Amino acid sequence: MSRTPQTAAPATAPGGGDPPLGEVLVADRLVPPHGPDVPCPAADLVAGELSRRGARPVRGALRLPESRRPAAGGGVTPPSGGEGAAGADHGGGYTAVVAGSDPPRGLGAAPTAATVPGQAGESALREAVDAWLAVAGAARTVLLAAPRSFCAGVERAIEVVEQVLQQRGGPVYVRKQIVHNTRVVAGLEARGAVFVDELDEVPEGAAVVFSAHGVSPQVHRQAAERGLHVVDAACPLVTKVHTEARRFASRGDTVVLIGHGGHEEVEGTLGQAPARTVLVEAPEDVAALEVADPERVAYLTQTTLAVDETAEVVDALRARFPSLRGPASDDICYATTNRQDALAAIAGESDVVLVVGSANSSNSVRLVELAQRRGVPAHLVDDTGEIRPEWLAGVRTVGLTAGASAPPGLVEEVVAALGGLGPVTVHEREVTRETVHFALPSAARRS
Ligand code: SF4
Repeated sequence: MSRTPQTAAPATAPGGGDPPLGEVLVADRLVPPHGPDVPCPAADLVAGELSRRGARPVRGALRLPESRRPAAGGGVTPPSGGEGAAGADHGGGYTAVVAGSDPPRGLGAAPTAATVPGQAGESALREAVDAWLAVAGAARTVLLAAPRSFCAGVERAIEVVEQVLQQRGGPVYVRKQIVHNTRVVAGLEARGAVFVDELDEVPEGAAVVFSAHGVSPQVHRQAAERGLHVVDAACPLVTKVHTEARRFASRGDTVVLIGHGGHEEVEGTLGQAPARTVLVEAPEDVAALEVADPERVAYLTQTTLAVDETAEVVDALRARFPSLRGPASDDICYATTNRQDALAAIAGESDVVLVVGSANSSNSVRLVELAQRRGVPAHLVDDTGEIRPEWLAGVRTVGLTAGASAPPGLVEEVVAALGGLGPVTVHEREVTRETVHFALPSAARRS
């Protein structure tokens, strides 16, 4: 590897929140002095590895000097991840061409003028590229679960924010994350949405959107007191559970809500009839329940739970309260059920399962757990950069899905990045076709 130029001065000093190695260039293509560019579709993977090693990656072309031309059509250049090329614009670098890739696919990284000088940076570049080279070159199959990604409730909630932004201009305040996905939230923020935790952060009289997870009546009251213009993007299937909670409570039942404490949807449902609702998370919680009348107990569930685990809790409730009543139709929504069924259909054939979704996305986390319960290694990734090379060691078949709040484009990015490590064949397994669509709330419809 070329030495980091000693004259290079870091644009940002270590500390103060900057990564210790500063900025590094991750090649999105290698540019030889002669011949065609070599694309680097796995750039996101290399960037993720460099981030974990303390660098701030930026993307760009990495120019190769005359002496460091990548081998066309195969062979790592140089073999076993040896010294790579130096880009004329970027100082010393480290590059390789994936063995057997046809047309050639490259990997590469280089210091920039803003890289913190020193051996640590050089090592990080080499290690990050080598880590991916170690699992590159083999042909892989990607089994795509279908359905996956956005559900109707998430599409509607995002469109609500977009419509309100269009109608009123920014800023438009959104209470909590509109849906639990980092990419979606960042995209809407860039367009003028301001995400807040509580309504006291919203100026009086401003427009505020409530998230897809639904809110309690208390939040609606607080908004009215502050004169806020509310547009409620609660998923209609969450609203259905709210209605059930009030109906069961009004006829004198103790309402047992099965869900995860602290989740926004659970907070909203608990708030529908707070004096009559209790939360259970697991079958073990049922024995400790105290109810006013064991003959008058009803249950509801969070919409995004694991179907099989929830059935165990309901069984435990029914064993203790034989007169138990439940919702007319399942509270676990169609999108959650379909994504779990779709993953179950491919998990057994997968060496590893990747679930695209954010850590606070309940249905995404349930998908990871489902695969793990079936004995398949499974990992949740917010985006391509979070995939770790060690997860792909010896892996020939990757099961891939995404939670209901994850944009479809993120899945496409993962597939493209895997294609940068070697030949990839994609098979989609569709267990059912979704045709659900929810109309926008009247306050968000175009006039
Ligand atoms: S996951 Fe289900 S309940 Fe949640 S927004 Fe989507 S359709 Fe609605």
